[in-house]
Amino acid sequence: MPERPFTDWHTHIYLPEHLGPVWTDRGTELVGRPGFGRADLAEHTRVMAESGVERFLVLGLQVARIGMKVPNDYVGEYLDANRERAIGVGSVDPTQPGAADELRRAVREYGLHGVKLSPPYQGFHPHCDEAYEVYRAAADLGIFLMFHQASVFAPDGCNEYAYPMFLDKVAREFRDTNILVAHFGKPWMNETVELMMKNRNVFADVSTLPVKTWQLYNGLRLAIEGHVTDRLVFGSDFPSFCPKESADQFLAISELDMPLPIPHDVVEDILYNRPLDIILPK
Ligand SMILES: [Zn+2]
Repeated sequence: MPERPFTDWHTHIYLPEHLGPVWTDRGTELVGRPGFGRADLAEHTRVMAESGVERFLVLGLQVARIGMKVPNDYVGEYLDANRERAIGVGSVDPTQPGAADELRRAVREYGLHGVKLSPPYQGFHPHCDEAYEVYRAAADLGIFLMFHQASVFAPDGCNEYAYPMFLDKVAREFRDTNILVAHFGKPWMNETVELMMKNRNVFADVSTLPVKTWQLYNGLRLAIEGHVTDRLVFGSDFPSFCPKESADQFLAISELDMPLPIPHDVVEDILYNRPLDIILPK
């Protein structure tokens, strides 16, 4: 158990009916239940408290091509109930008409802080016109962009759109908009670190890497050598992983017996010293 309360930068909420048939079947096939576990509001609240999570980022996700739709209102209402300890990230699918309008509505209604996009799941190239319409809306609204810019395991996912370096153009052209890359851009942590080195508006979360020792070790070494650990944040990807166990696995990487170790103070710093407002506009 982590010694102190910490912040979890990657947590989902949803009801089973938000997931759509593909995810429901796939989750059942993989883990014996729809999705990756229960993530309704009561369960989220319970697990965060039990895990010692003091603050969290709460995420929606909408993927039209597989019928997944976590409503922005569901995220917004939970954010309202946790205003002093959460930031809220809605989602729109740029492949769908009206995506930018829905983003404007949800942000104005609930004060959401960011929008989550997933090129490999939603099936769009990060440079396409439809995506740029959403980026421009986010820039006007003063919210950050969060990308699942990392490989996906789902057989119908589009890994050709997952490459993190596609975001260099977005980071350059939207200098005042912060970008949070989920899952450290895995398996392209090297590219993600290069992206972060040249773009101060790019951050990354380490969610899902704690169970992949080699990816986490390499990613952290690259981040240390690239001097970007100050923009790395911890995330569990609840409910796929339990925040407490994930934080324990994350801290344990510093105990790996390697000629070039990961210093313990680096992982502690990432886990405990990343206030949520570093991603918000100054
Ligand atoms: Zn996630």
